[in-house]
Amino acid sequence: MIIIMERNATKANVDKILDLLKENGFQVRCNQGEVHTVIDALGDKTTITPGRISAFEGVKEVKVIREPFRLASRDSHEDDTVIEFSNGVKIGGANKPVAMVGPCSVEDDYDGLLEVATAAKEMGCQFLRGGAFKPRTSPYDFQGHGEKALKFLKQASEATGLLTVSEIMDASDLDMMCEYIDVLQIGARNVQNFKLLQAVGKCNKPVILKRGLASTIREFLLAAEHIMYQGNHNVILCERGIRSFDSAFTRNVMDIASIPVIKKYSHLPIIVDPSHGTGQRYLIEPLAKAGLVVGADGIMIEVHHDPENALSDGKQSLPIPMFKEVMKRLNQFNNRLHYEKNCLSANVE
Ligand code: PEP
Ligand code: MN
Repeated sequence: MIIIMERNATKANVDKILDLLKENGFQVRCNQGEVHTVIDALGDKTTITPGRISAFEGVKEVKVIREPFRLASRDSHEDDTVIEFSNGVKIGGANKPVAMVGPCSVEDDYDGLLEVATAAKEMGCQFLRGGAFKPRTSPYDFQGHGEKALKFLKQASEATGLLTVSEIMDASDLDMMCEYIDVLQIGARNVQNFKLLQAVGKCNKPVILKRGLASTIREFLLAAEHIMYQGNHNVILCERGIRSFDSAFTRNVMDIASIPVIKKYSHLPIIVDPSHGTGQRYLIEPLAKAGLVVGADGIMIEVHHDPENALSDGKQSLPIPMFKEVMKRLNQFNNRLHYEKNCLSANVE
């Protein structure tokens, strides 16, 4: 780390920091500039954290060179992480992007869910998604059907061969959820629920971690780090839009740039969710394409057999006929992109 001292910092201020760093095994170089003293310190930041140094008298700023998300960082793992499922489906690296589709909430209508799952399978998707425990802003809104919904998901998975994704909200549901589903989702609202992150970090189910409504990219990757630090490295990130000042036409602002940025600094796979990212049916296809263009490893889309009567997120859900049209074009787009990417990498080699 680089420690920049205040213009009026005293020699005693500087020496106190130098002593502490040296005592803790840091290699230090102190540069006395015309205005500021700058300390260059190399060592283990888990013993002396930048936050601790910044509390010392006379410190103006502490800059960190190495990113704090060590396990999630490309510095520690240069190759892309690829997550492989028992049926051979792979997410990440050079693999073709996957599609995860399904209703926002699994409702009390198995046939409706199966209709969506059958369409998803027909269109070449790999995952069926659906909420059983719903994080709703209002306590008066539908909260999810819990275990019954998970049973429906499992049944639909057995009928179609699709893998399943569902959101976990409470660590006490972990063992039960692991019996029914293939991928745990941590939603945007729980991205900094550290106890929950730690709990899923202790199992080995793949986890989709959604970006929080106001998470910076660093905070997002540190949330992934919490899961990985407990031993579970099967983390799939998901860009699902962030809050900004203009919500007149879109629910969130889909941060498309976050995908190549995260790819640059992390080896973890990342998918895009244009349904929550925009909140608008007509924006799902263009934003899914945008995500694929910038390197997303998959897309997550909400599809409902009867959006007008959906218990949550009907407005952003695609009805099945529209989903099939959209998915057909996305598949063609994906194939072209994948082909071009392969040609490009073949030429570079
Ligand atoms: C969802 O996937 O249904 C969901 C609630 O997503 P998010 O956490 O991104 O709002
Ligand atoms: Mn939803």
